[in-house]
Amino acid sequence: MAEMKRVFVGSLATETNTFSPLRTDLQDFRDSFYAGPGEHPATPTLCSAVFPVARDRARQYGWHVIEGTATWAEPGGLVNARTWELLRDQMLAEIRAALPLDIVLLGLHGAMVADGCLDCEGEILEAVRAIVGPDTIIGATFDPHSHLSAKRTANADLLVAFKEFPHTDFVIAAESLIDLAHRTSVGEVKPEISVFDCRMIEVLPTSRQPMRGFVDKLKALEGHDGVLSVSVIHGFMAADVPDLGSRLVVITDGDRPKGDRLARELGMELYSYRGRTRPEFLTPAEALDKAAEIDGHPVVIADVWDNPGGGVPGDSTIVLREMIARDLTDAALASIWDPIAVRTCISAGEGATLPLRFGGKMSAAAGEPIDAEVTVEKVVRNAVQSFGTSVVPLGDSVTIRVGSLRVVLNTVRSQIFSPDAFANMGIDPTAMKILVVKSTNHFHDAFSRIAFDILYAAVDGPYPNDPATNTYHTLTRAIWPRVEDPHAA
Ligand SMILES: [Zn+2]
Repeated sequence: MAEMKRVFVGSLATETNTFSPLRTDLQDFRDSFYAGPGEHPATPTLCSAVFPVARDRARQYGWHVIEGTATWAEPGGLVNARTWELLRDQMLAEIRAALPLDIVLLGLHGAMVADGCLDCEGEILEAVRAIVGPDTIIGATFDPHSHLSAKRTANADLLVAFKEFPHTDFVIAAESLIDLAHRTSVGEVKPEISVFDCRMIEVLPTSRQPMRGFVDKLKALEGHDGVLSVSVIHGFMAADVPDLGSRLVVITDGDRPKGDRLARELGMELYSYRGRTRPEFLTPAEALDKAAEIDGHPVVIADVWDNPGGGVPGDSTIVLREMIARDLTDAALASIWDPIAVRTCISAGEGATLPLRFGGKMSAAAGEPIDAEVTVEKVVRNAVQSFGTSVVPLGDSVTIRVGSLRVVLNTVRSQIFSPDAFANMGIDPTAMKILVVKSTNHFHDAFSRIAFDILYAAVDGPYPNDPATNTYHTLTRAIWPRVEDPHAA
């Protein structure tokens, strides 16, 4: 019987909006998800699916899996230096303690930026390589909303990003990585990574064309003619980093020239879609007008830029104010992040009516706070919602009634992924005429199953949503739309 392979799994992930008024601390990791060695639950989180999948495959592949820490913070502002250094050093110490290792598998996000480090994942992969040496296989899963530096590709053997946005395939990405790591370890394949810089930044939802067809095409390429894996790094525009932008990643079985050719060909195809991948964005007033005319329910309206999943606080009142002005009935909004207001409502108790100031606290861009007489309809301690097979915390939360509207206030920041975010808070989402959710596109998969129609409302301000005009100090490469034809040079 062959000797068992020693395999380390770890996960350290967040997405950093360097323009956000928030700052990210260790407590934010603890609030969102923190599992020490051996403590990872059976269910995956977005960036930690390597844990349950490695456990599942261990017997089949003859792996001795050594689990490190897995942690994730809801996207936010710059990670403070002490938190970054502590979590990084903890992961590296766990890897050192697990030596010798045949394989290291990391669940990363790829857009973590710390005070003093613009490329956290690059630094992690470089440090891991220095610890394990040249022969150990290093593989990582990435969120496509990340920044792919040369340091990352130089130090990893396998990089697999989620293909779907919404990221409904995060478990599939982990399975694909783990499969390839196994095949590499037994000498069946020799992965070679090719990268093409598309020199663009754009919002690329795959729930609609042209991206839907593009992703299907990439999936069809995998597993044929020596193509092991194809990933698209969409990029993440809310970060001032040198590697900002989209990239095509092709992993071939030892055929670098072919990988380079394919990465370029697919990368230029992606580039050709620029400017026509976004859905129609309406103003809040236009979205509410249109929803009122739609003869069916529920109509889901996404507040696309006040999305905590993009690192903003998620306490904007701009869409809500428009809803209050219309005195809408059978309408609900989830959620406004306001720990102080939640605490006050919990003190008042279910059924209480009180004057409450809520929302609009973290930045001028998010609108003024709302002052209203509200009724506390429901209090839920440690509220949650689902995202695929993953359970996402919302913290202590309350449903309040403002006029005839219902609003969910929460304490642990999260975008809204699923209708159970309403149902768990005592609001029947299918009975509502209008549901407003703070999310750019992750809501789409679960809400499309109950929605009569889906509209997108865009408010400028909380999120740096125009890369042509965003202030990037560290970006020196020419990328569209800052440069009309960045491939010309
Ligand atoms: Zn993402």
